[in-house]
Amino acid sequence: MKKIVMKFGGTSVATGENMRHVARLVVDTTSQECGVVVVVSALDGVTDELLEAAEQAQKEKQEYIKAFKQRMLDTHFTAISKAIRNAQLRKEVEHIIQKTIDELEKVLTGICYVGELTAKSKDYVLSFGERLSAPVLCGAISDLKLKSQCFTGKEAGIVTDVNFGEANPLLNVTTHQLKERIKPLLEKNVIPVVSGYIAATQDGVVTTLGRGGSDYTATLIGAALGVDEVWIWTDVDGIMTADPKIIPTAKLLPELSYQEAAEMAIFGAKAMHPRALEPIMKANIPARIRNVFNPKNPGTLISSDQTTTSKDAVKSVAIIKDVAMININGAGMVGAPGSYARIFDLLGRNHINVMMISAAVSEANISIVIRRNLLGRALSVLEIALLGKGLISDVAAEDDVCVVAAMGANMKGTLGVASRVFTSQARNCVNIRMIAQGSSELNISFVVKEKDGKAAVKAIHEEFELDKIYL
Ligand code: ASP
Ligand code: MG
Repeated sequence: MKKIVMKFGGTSVATGENMRHVARLVVDTTSQECGVVVVVSALDGVTDELLEAAEQAQKEKQEYIKAFKQRMLDTHFTAISKAIRNAQLRKEVEHIIQKTIDELEKVLTGICYVGELTAKSKDYVLSFGERLSAPVLCGAISDLKLKSQCFTGKEAGIVTDVNFGEANPLLNVTTHQLKERIKPLLEKNVIPVVSGYIAATQDGVVTTLGRGGSDYTATLIGAALGVDEVWIWTDVDGIMTADPKIIPTAKLLPELSYQEAAEMAIFGAKAMHPRALEPIMKANIPARIRNVFNPKNPGTLISSDQTTTSKDAVKSVAIIKDVAMININGAGMVGAPGSYARIFDLLGRNHINVMMISAAVSEANISIVIRRNLLGRALSVLEIALLGKGLISDVAAEDDVCVVAAMGANMKGTLGVASRVFTSQARNCVNIRMIAQGSSELNISFVVKEKDGKAAVKAIHEEFELDKIYL
């Protein structure tokens, strides 16, 4: 029997109607002699709302929590009413949801009383999104007369370290437990519905795998059970040559290597969890990105062997917005070991993630790209700690920029790709502010003014004729 893990993201289960639709997809796949394990995200937007609620609780806003509880009840009860028709089943699921939301209220009230939100309690609050969605989807599947059983990540056996907010799975014990707890159900034709994103430490304390972590849950399970494919169901057809909102002629990429997909997942509009491909890459299990609202489309297959060959070296081009560029200058950095380390250490200690770096061999200038909302903090820590101390003489920032990235595995070793990328920009009067190409040669990234972003993407799409990529 073929085995498949199906992961449904937040928009796929945003409403009760969507849940029912998703349950039907599960039933259809099962009826084709396929064992299915379901992994589900929180309902669209719920994780963000939980985060907000946790922060409001920290500020001791009791009223907010009351209203929030009601909102959660309404959202999930409405979903149940649309997803489940059988009255008895509906009552059972309502009971679980009521109990879980009561528990959530208690947790938030506790945070309110102490006025403190630790990384540990934050993860506990965030876990509720998936703890609430899984029982509803499980009920919707049972409503269509298939046996199904609901698991939290912890119940399924996913064990992590204590790095709350971005916990790392302990692979040996996790694999062992997933095999022991989930595999037997497939043999009994029961559909396991596992809440994505959440897990627990060895002591049973709830952790999360980082935002978007349901993908990671799905691939962990896929690798542990040795399934045939992991299907990541989302609301787009798959990975495209560019964002179709910018390039209407953008094409779906039917196949990608793991490396390409990982590269694109980080840049893409529909980001996949950055570590999600790790477990299946090791086990050589293919993943497929598919559209719940267009299930006839086979989507994008991510695997180690490609059968179709694209015409050119570049396969896709993406734009990353909401970023800012900081230029740090100072003759004091020249020939001074550890000067870059001091800059990055400072940013790291202040929780400022550096997305892109470029430094010339003159060493007197280093440019970095960070999220725009962190710019104020980054500038003030750099100025306070480093300016006037002989290392750097000047820090300047631009917040009206974006990053453009051209990607494709065939870029490696192909001559002239960079020249074509940048000539195409010049032809379209786009000025380049900063450039980076890692030696993996999987992508060339550069910074342009935000107003030039669309033109920059278009120039690359045209230069490499990405609308005719497989012709
Ligand atoms: N619900 C979580 C989030 O919004 C996990 C996921 O969607 O994969 O980040
Ligand atoms: Mg999500």
